[in-house]
Amino acid sequence: MDKQVEFFMKEALFEARSAGQIDEVPIGAVVVKNGRIIGRGHNLREHLQEVTMHAEMIAITEACQYLHSWRLEDCDLYVTLEPCMMCSGAILNARIKNLYYGAPDPKAGAVDSLYHLLGDSRLNHQVDVHAGICATESSQLLRTFFRRVRRQRKAARRRWRRQNPKLTGQTGESSV
Ligand SMILES: [Zn+2]
Repeated sequence: MDKQVEFFMKEALFEARSAGQIDEVPIGAVVVKNGRIIGRGHNLREHLQEVTMHAEMIAITEACQYLHSWRLEDCDLYVTLEPCMMCSGAILNARIKNLYYGAPDPKAGAVDSLYHLLGDSRLNHQVDVHAGICATESSQLLRTFFRRVRRQRKAARRRWRRQNPKLTGQTGESSV
């Protein structure tokens, strides 16, 4: 793999970990122009309770603010997970040149998995897509995160049942 590509994906992975540390789904992104990061972001949907606060949207917004322009024509976006429909729309509208992404998203990916928005010739802009960059590391982060969430939910349910034995018809000593 190209050393520079790997370097920037590691930066996106760093962002993803920052999201995981605050209990957000660990997804991170950076926008790069002329070998420099001009925008970065990680998923903040839960903290802000805003549906648009995906890593890519935050990184793109920061890059636009930096350049004082909505046109990111000579910019590349690195993101740890395949972008969704909304983010693919923003990538197209911002006219980003190259997209580098990590793991595929079979449930929401709009670049390769469910749709091929970035290569649709009916649109006035197409993006060069490079998939599978540090994909193992990226999906490992997601897997570990969801495993932890499931464990926490299970423990919370167990705790609740212990505290409410009458409601669940179980005794307080139940080990379920
Ligand atoms: Zn998205």
